[in-house]
Amino acid sequence: MNLNGVVIRVPGKVNLGLSVGPLDSDGYHEIVTLFQAISLYDDVTVKIGSEGAGITLDASGSTSTGVPLDETNLAYRAADLMIRKFQLDSDIDIHLKKEIPVAGGMAGGSADAAGVIVGIDALFELGLSRDELERIGSELGSDVPFGIAGGTAIGRGRGDQLTPVLSQGTYQWVLALSNSGLSTPAVYGECDRLREGLSIAKPSANDALLQSLRAGDARELGKALSNDLQSAACSLRPALRLVLDVGNDYGALGCIVSGSGPTVAFLVEDEERALDLTVALSASGVVGGVVRASGPTHGARRISSF
Ligand code: ATP
Repeated sequence: MNLNGVVIRVPGKVNLGLSVGPLDSDGYHEIVTLFQAISLYDDVTVKIGSEGAGITLDASGSTSTGVPLDETNLAYRAADLMIRKFQLDSDIDIHLKKEIPVAGGMAGGSADAAGVIVGIDALFELGLSRDELERIGSELGSDVPFGIAGGTAIGRGRGDQLTPVLSQGTYQWVLALSNSGLSTPAVYGECDRLREGLSIAKPSANDALLQSLRAGDARELGKALSNDLQSAACSLRPALRLVLDVGNDYGALGCIVSGSGPTVAFLVEDEERALDLTVALSASGVVGGVVRASGPTHGARRISSF
């Protein structure tokens, strides 16, 4: 079948646990993180572009403001990498319909790159395996393989070495969004500054988290949520502490800054709690927006072809 284009739906993520090791000699941190893909999606359309146009990119959707539309966009870089790797003699037009917050600690850019990799594989019938797709993704960024995989997984190394995790049930999230993002390198830098003079252990998996997911126990999961970057994100953005307090006051099972923030994810027991918390957060004046999502959900997946 000769396709002209495909639409790939890609999820955002929350880090249920994020353990950050000491700063390496090469300027990175080894991490162990537990990702859950959640039902906040970008839709990435990848189609054959006009002849001679090269790679073109545009974006729409509720969170598209401020997304770079040049060659620094991770989706653009993913297309460029795929074209070079597979010597594709074609122009590629990408459209991002964004719902995942930008610079929100939910790996939106990585999700878009995942969408382009999976989209180009489908469009040109390259027949790559999931492993190969993820390996290519890891060349672009540590969160890209998880955008392809979805579900629930432990990420080791820089977060790109994935192992799927057994998880039962569906978890309900209320997400407090910020009007402005936090830069991931700046949050890691602040984490290093706060840790100065301390001896930092190697990063490790959080057994309580894994056990609660295996048992499908949302209450225990709420208690076990942990993020080593949370104090750094709060130090750079003190208002996040107020946001976390609203969740505690309104009976969230647990709350956590997602990844490097500033999105705060609240795990809630049921629909009623989710509504109460959504109203409380919206009225608090300390958040830029509130959205609901559930997880785990699928990774990058084709939703239409034309
Ligand atoms: P992570 O949790 O992986 O660190 P994040 O969710 O905090 O990521 P992104 O939304 O991926 O952050 O965006 C980080 C920065 O990357 C943005 O400020 C933006 O300038 C740039 N960027 C590049 N490509 C994209 C994209 N496709 N969508 C959003 N931002 C992008």
